[in-house]
Amino acid sequence: MTKDKNNWLEKMALAHPLVIAGPCSAETEEQVMKIAHQLAKTDATIFRAGVWKPRTRPGNFEGVGEIALPWLQRVKKETGLLTAVEVANATHVKLALEYDIDILWIGARTTVNPFAVQEIADALENTKKIVLVKNPINPDLELWIGAVERLQTANIKNIGAIHRGFSTYQKTAYRNNPNWQIAIDFKNRLPAIPLINDPSHICGNREGIFDVSQMALDLQFDGLMIETHTNPDKAWSDAKQQITPTRLAEITKNLKLRKSKFEKEFALEKLENLREKINLIDNELIKMLSKRMGVSKKIGTVKKEQNVAVLQPNRWNEILKESIKKGDKEGLSNLFMEKIYKAIHQESIKIQEDILKR
Ligand code: PEP
Ligand code: MN
Repeated sequence: MTKDKNNWLEKMALAHPLVIAGPCSAETEEQVMKIAHQLAKTDATIFRAGVWKPRTRPGNFEGVGEIALPWLQRVKKETGLLTAVEVANATHVKLALEYDIDILWIGARTTVNPFAVQEIADALENTKKIVLVKNPINPDLELWIGAVERLQTANIKNIGAIHRGFSTYQKTAYRNNPNWQIAIDFKNRLPAIPLINDPSHICGNREGIFDVSQMALDLQFDGLMIETHTNPDKAWSDAKQQITPTRLAEITKNLKLRKSKFEKEFALEKLENLREKINLIDNELIKMLSKRMGVSKKIGTVKKEQNVAVLQPNRWNEILKESIKKGDKEGLSNLFMEKIYKAIHQESIKIQEDILKR
């Protein structure tokens, strides 16, 4: 990523993109060591393993707990990989520090809870350890940033963020919907905080990992956290989404790294021409939108004179349907047209409501 960040990631001089890999959960010492030794031969530089597992419903495997921490120490000693665990309360933090784990991450179910995050921040005060904050399970940028701020207030300097997607009630192709715009907004608000992507928890399956990882790199994420297991089908948690170290190596080999900026003169010139075109089109677009809202205002006056309701469902349905159809013919996606027209209609309603209120 950009060279002017001067953050922990650059100071550590780890490969770009940073690859964090390892099982969803530490299961046995043998499993941990086997995965770690295979990962040491890949691009992974940090070994992750859940020791305390936050499960949605009780009765599932909830992690082996403290006994796994010496296994992670062995991983570091034998492979040189740095180690990472999830912490969800002050006790976890205390133990992780006692066993000198290098990186602590706050899981999505913990980031939602300011009390828990504050407890972790207090337990970690002044630490030099790296602390990664996963996005909260709900799409709330402020809650995510708030968690980072609690750590910053506790004088924790080495902070990173992980985009692991967001829960939805209606099931989509993803286990946790990637809301790339929230990640982009996060980056804009906190540009110095390295941003890592977790395609495993986004996808919930093995098939999507490559594409989501590539998307993340195309959006200039700084690293990837990918769940890896030598026998994924037999994993004690998140079996469907884990991949083997061999597959991980294949994925990282095939990922395309993009330059963060244009280098060649001609490319720059070409780009500037195209951007100039975009600017002209945007000028027109804005003028047209303003014109449309002007007409909408006039309609508002007529509605006020006739004492007619602002929302006319039939007319609105017709506009929406026709716009989607016309957009479709012009190669614009139905979803895009729907979003645009809903935004335009909302603004129209607001303008007319202001007139009716007068
Ligand atoms: C995990 O990383 O294993 C995990 C529980 O992730 P999340 O907090 O993103 O659900
Ligand atoms: Mn998991």
